[in-house]
Amino acid sequence: MKFTGKNVLITGASKGIGAQIARTLAEFGLKVWINYRSKPELAEALMQEINNNGGKAAIICFDASDENAFAQAIKSIVDSDGELSYLVNNAGITKDKLVLRMSTQDFNDVINANLNSAFIGCKEAFKVMSKQRFGSVVNISSIIGEIGNAGQVNYAASKGAIIAMSKSFAKEAASRNVRYNSITPGFIASDMTDVLSDEIKQTYYKSIPLARFGDAKEVANAVAFLLSDYSSYITGEVLKVNGGLFM
Ligand code: NAP
Repeated sequence: MKFTGKNVLITGASKGIGAQIARTLAEFGLKVWINYRSKPELAEALMQEINNNGGKAAIICFDASDENAFAQAIKSIVDSDGELSYLVNNAGITKDKLVLRMSTQDFNDVINANLNSAFIGCKEAFKVMSKQRFGSVVNISSIIGEIGNAGQVNYAASKGAIIAMSKSFAKEAASRNVRYNSITPGFIASDMTDVLSDEIKQTYYKSIPLARFGDAKEVANAVAFLLSDYSSYITGEVLKVNGGLFM
């Protein structure tokens, strides 16, 4: 994989899919800025792991839904390293409930954590990337944003909107050589899917053509491709990483 830029910021990267994205991008030679919100010990351990393996990593604490904090974080990266070429908006939460039990607060909390944080990141990164006349952003959406799901009205709304938002950013930013793409993972083995019972997992396996949950590494490889020069003519695209569950 070939990368023109040097630095990548990944939100919500101290664990799960975000941590695997950080490991993978470091293996490809990028300096990874690991954003965390609440677990410094996990972020520090990941930074050390990457640095011990010959990669370059730094940690940066902020709440991705806090506009000022996100802007300040990007400024400090650029002050430190002179550029920010890549951003992965990965931070996300769920607050699943059937809709009659879902409060407006539950809805807004998920929109704020998943969609507003991605909007802030896309916008703040564009300020830097448009001046550089170079950049690539990947937004982590979800298969649920494409097909919906009972009990996830809030999550589906946030993830579906990320797809539409990315396409609109892609149209505005193309003249500045800044690309925006989305990835829609299906069921990926992680804390988010570990809560499912074995029985439910077996039911899902039967409906997935590749008959298993995905690995975070398989999402990370797709992120690397969409950030890299190998996808230089791809923008506004939605890349499904779902084992064939939704085609
Ligand atoms: P995870 O293990 O729960 O990790 C999510 C990370 O996001 C956590 O580190 C969390 O930090 C962070 N985060 C949440 N809100 C944040 C905020 N406001 N500011 C900064 N960090 C924040 O989840 P995951 O399974 O790795 O999922 C990663 C992304 O993939 C999410 O966007 C998710 O929706 C998406 N996705 C996952 C799956 C799946 O099967 N796992 C499928 C499709 C899409 P704290 O611990 O501090 O809260």
